[in-house]
Amino acid sequence: MDEFALIRRHFAALTGAPREVVLGVGDDCALLQPPPGEQLAVTSDTLIAGRHFPDQTAPADIGWKALAVNLSDLAAMGARPLAFTLALTLPQADDAWLAAFAQGLRACAEPSGAALIGGDTTRGPLSITITAIGALPPGGALLRAGAGIGDLVCVTGTLGDAALALQQWQAGRVPADDAEHWLRARLDRPTPRHAAGLALRGLARAAIDVSDGLLGDLGHICSASGAGAELDLSALPMSEAFRRRAPAAQRAGLQLTGGDDYELCVCVPPARLDDARRACGPLPLTPVGRIVAEAGVRLRDAHGAIVEVSSHAYRHF
Ligand code: ADP
Ligand code: MG
Repeated sequence: MDEFALIRRHFAALTGAPREVVLGVGDDCALLQPPPGEQLAVTSDTLIAGRHFPDQTAPADIGWKALAVNLSDLAAMGARPLAFTLALTLPQADDAWLAAFAQGLRACAEPSGAALIGGDTTRGPLSITITAIGALPPGGALLRAGAGIGDLVCVTGTLGDAALALQQWQAGRVPADDAEHWLRARLDRPTPRHAAGLALRGLARAAIDVSDGLLGDLGHICSASGAGAELDLSALPMSEAFRRRAPAAQRAGLQLTGGDDYELCVCVPPARLDDARRACGPLPLTPVGRIVAEAGVRLRDAHGAIVEVSSHAYRHF
């Protein structure tokens, strides 16, 4: 199968397109008509086999995750997804692999409303780069730089699930029951929080998606905002599966420094917390700390005492 047949078969009409897409796959460029008066939000992420996902990851999960991590960035900005491009480097044109990859990609794209509008296909070690484009009203973007002293630091969903699943995978454990399958899906098929990102526009003052671990990602909000933060260790939201399966001594480390959760971390003035929670609908939004003047991120234990982030308990993460 040549490159063009491959593109036609698997990617030419992956999903329906929103009206902003004037021309999709097939010409030298795609054409977009930006929504009147809106700004475009643009983001790219690359996934490389063996680095960003284990080599044996199912192709459908790779397709899902390659798009999900980009939609997560749009969500963290409060942008509505419109379209994306796909730059695919493949060791060989394996039709079954491509069909499964495209199916996972479509499953992630469809609920977001984003259409595949073009890309590039080359031969080489497996790597996937997606560029996603969203739209939002001028001044509406949720920036990292907007956090104010006294804001509540809140996170959507639960933390640590993907890191626990990765740890189990690396230990050679095959998911054996519902809890382990659920954890593994949190790693392989993260749910981009675009509905929450959109709904939090005008309520949150700063936002980031948690891709590298809460400590590091909240640290980015703090440096961009010229502030610091205190986190309450006992407030970090845990899933039922995580509570049952994560060894107690490892929980805090997994939740604070484990990557791949793709939840949103947002800073909300206390007076807006109820509105922000309502805006997230059924998705839990949990206050886990607050923005303070002193730079850096500090942790407080259940008794309110400061815990050293670099203390022995967390160092191996
Ligand atoms: P060009 O040589 O002009 O860059 P290509 O031969 O690379 O064009 O691609 C032909 C068409 O197929 C273009 O519209 C391009 O955007 C699209 N395309 C190429 N690879 C992909 C892909 N992996 N997914 C979606 N569209 C693709
Ligand atoms: Mg090309």
